Amino acid sequence: MTQLEYKLHIDSIIERVEKARLSLSAHHIVKIVAVSKYSTSEEIKALYEIGQRAFGENRVQDLAKKSEELEDLPLEWHFIGNLQKNKINQLIKTNPFLFQSLDSLELALELDKRLEAHGVKMEALLQINSAYEETKSGVMPEAAIDIYEEIASLCKNIHLKGVMSIGAHTDEREKIKKSFEATHDIYSRLKGATICSMGMSTDFELAIACGSNMVRIGSLMFNK
Ligand SMILES: *Cc1c(COP(=O)(O)O)cnc(C)c1O
Repeated sequence: MTQLEYKLHIDSIIERVEKARLSLSAHHIVKIVAVSKYSTSEEIKALYEIGQRAFGENRVQDLAKKSEELEDLPLEWHFIGNLQKNKINQLIKTNPFLFQSLDSLELALELDKRLEAHGVKMEALLQINSAYEETKSGVMPEAAIDIYEEIASLCKNIHLKGVMSIGAHTDEREKIKKSFEATHDIYSRLKGATICSMGMSTDFELAIACGSNMVRIGSLMFNK
């Protein structure tokens, strides 16, 4: 694919996002985070040159490496993966724009302690396992609101901005839709939450129809 063809490909994705958000409301703004976990720094730079600014990684080591290689570019980095306790300090050092995958009170307490020691704050989303899948991280929907409020009151160095969820892993649209609706329902009941992050390459239009205002698109954005 030439750079021009790539630009047209990205334009077509943006148009699809536009169409989906406008069918909800002209006031509904959706942000695209390009998930670069399968891509090289070169490929990230090519997408940056087309105008993309927000990128997401799911491994702390990859986030550290790529953000360092691309430190001259004004990029916004999102961490979207499972955070192991022994990687917390490394994540703090990368100073991510948004940690989207905070998935337990226990992790929040540990992260808060380390943020305190580093004298920094971090913006985060609470990850919800709305599809009840054992392979997925996240708090159970029934417990989400209590845990969110607990983190907000106990962890002064973590600024919670909303929720993140991965749609049900199935071809049945109804099931995927149900998991998005469950996430959005929780989001709408949280005081002060402004980000509802859901939707990936194969289901972002459905996610937007269910109220998502942040989509995380990987393989499609990078044409993999
Ligand atoms: C990989 C990943 C994505 C992007 O997935 P695609 O299907 O490639 O769009 C989004 N969110 C999370 C949490 C991921 O791990």
